[in-house]
Amino acid sequence: MGTSEITNAFSVDVEDWYQVSDFEAAVRLDEWDRYESRVVANTRRILKMLAEFKVKGTFFILTWNAERHPELVEEIAADGHEIASHGYSHRLVYEQGRELYKEDLERSQEILNGILGEPVRGYRAPSFSVTSQSMWALDVMLEAGIEYDSSIFPVQDSLYGIPGALRFPFVIHESGHRRLVEFPMTTTRVAGRNLPLGGGAYLRMLPYQYMRWGMRRVNREGEPAVVYLHPWEIDPAQPRLKTRGKRGFSTHYVKLHAMEEKLRRLLSEFRFGPMRQVLAERGSAELPSREALLPLGAASQNSPIT
Ligand SMILES: [Zn+2]
Repeated sequence: MGTSEITNAFSVDVEDWYQVSDFEAAVRLDEWDRYESRVVANTRRILKMLAEFKVKGTFFILTWNAERHPELVEEIAADGHEIASHGYSHRLVYEQGRELYKEDLERSQEILNGILGEPVRGYRAPSFSVTSQSMWALDVMLEAGIEYDSSIFPVQDSLYGIPGALRFPFVIHESGHRRLVEFPMTTTRVAGRNLPLGGGAYLRMLPYQYMRWGMRRVNREGEPAVVYLHPWEIDPAQPRLKTRGKRGFSTHYVKLHAMEEKLRRLLSEFRFGPMRQVLAERGSAELPSREALLPLGAASQNSPIT
């Protein structure tokens, strides 16, 4: 087994099966209420699994769901997990533009603050949509009091990615006494290219051994990895929607039955904690600053799946 000394971050993007970017063209935001809600039951299954392994994580809440199920946010917090924001509407940041993005982020913060009675400090953009076209989002986050962001994937995908970004936590933006730390999604580096690890469809579709190998490599570099998943990814019984997805193909329903077992193996073989705790352990004073961010788009590569 061999649990490493490094604590990795465990994270859940709390959204329902029909709220994903892939289904955007087929499922309109103003019709979300018409779809079968499965997010509460699926999130509770994740809570139960984490309790079994005595692991705490960070739950990035899509706050359209928090408005309708505030008790779910309370339950997650009561279990000792960290609550953070996944925005309100799941629109891609670079498609929203600065003003709409600001409204979306602040609305999500107000909703969570109203439930928890305290401000949230962490944020993850829908589908990692902080890219070279939406770097202004970092300004908006800093102004809104966000302390860490986990939205940048240092790979090139047709929907997201900054291939030249640093691979591990760094200070991405500063203004006055405020600092915004970036916790990028996890990659492993092979032959000068960043290969995605992390979770989501990568974890579902690729062999477990790849994930374990990659995470061990990252931990041997002395760095924490971040694992992410969505509640619908452990729900093979969810309704089937016919859509080609935002890229012309969709990975949404692929290997849903394999996810839970892989998560259980990860939870038994690695040490995990909430993102904020992992960053604190990493020592924020020692984090590199944005100057070390390579020129955006410096590297070019393709990753075929999300
Ligand atoms: Zn999402």
